[in-house]
Amino acid sequence: VIELRGIKRNFAMGSHTVKVLKGIDLTIEKGEYVALMGPSGSGKSTLMNLLGCLDTPTAGEYTLNGQDVSRLSSDDLADIRNKEIGFVFQTFNLLPRQSALDNTALPLVYAGLGKSKRSERASQVLEQVGLGDRMDHQPSQLSGGQRQRVAVARALVNNPSLILADEPTGNLDTKTSVEIMALFNEIHQNGNTLVVVTHEEDIAQHAHRIIRLRDGMIESDTKNR
Ligand code: ATP
Ligand code: MG
Repeated sequence: VIELRGIKRNFAMGSHTVKVLKGIDLTIEKGEYVALMGPSGSGKSTLMNLLGCLDTPTAGEYTLNGQDVSRLSSDDLADIRNKEIGFVFQTFNLLPRQSALDNTALPLVYAGLGKSKRSERASQVLEQVGLGDRMDHQPSQLSGGQRQRVAVARALVNNPSLILADEPTGNLDTKTSVEIMALFNEIHQNGNTLVVVTHEEDIAQHAHRIIRLRDGMIESDTKNR
């Protein structure tokens, strides 16, 4: 499903260039559950943004489900994101004045679905993440774990083949983190491909493969179990 060949990502900083990803080769098959680890600044989020078609590489090829997405326009990238990718962020990134239901349904607006279809599908995924009784709550009326569940529901609502989560438990306590990881396990069992960035070994143990980055390169790539 995912093929990266010789991926580099540089950033211009004034007169010099910061080389963040220095040549990443990686294949992730459909249905895999991957944890991405590595020290702060090693390039995990930069890589996730590329995988999630939020960004394009300076050099190299990225093939997603058979399509070369390394050099698409931002409109075409947005299209791919809407169809194929669900993204979960450490900081939830929910709209504060909107209900859990409307936050969850947002990607369906871009997909062009009518309002009643949107609500139907959004309430279905909110049920799935255990928030059937919180659909009308705004983010400020929800706990951290519940907010992250809304974010997970929003990531799932389009039925994407690939779910990316960048430190999804980074702002949650241990108990809530365990609940969110149980949810990711369920999502994986439903056949989704999952890549989760984490600093915590306990969290990474949920995945079936652990990739460690160091200084913009893959340091190790091991099967777990
Ligand atoms: P953390 O664990 O702290 O989240 P990370 O592994 O996710 O770290 P990245 O956010 O990918 O690290 O950043 C890797 C390096 O790239 C950092 O040194 C950062 O300063 C640099 N970097 C990231 N984005 C940019 C940008 N837009 N412009 C310039 N430098 C950037
Ligand atoms: Mg990061």
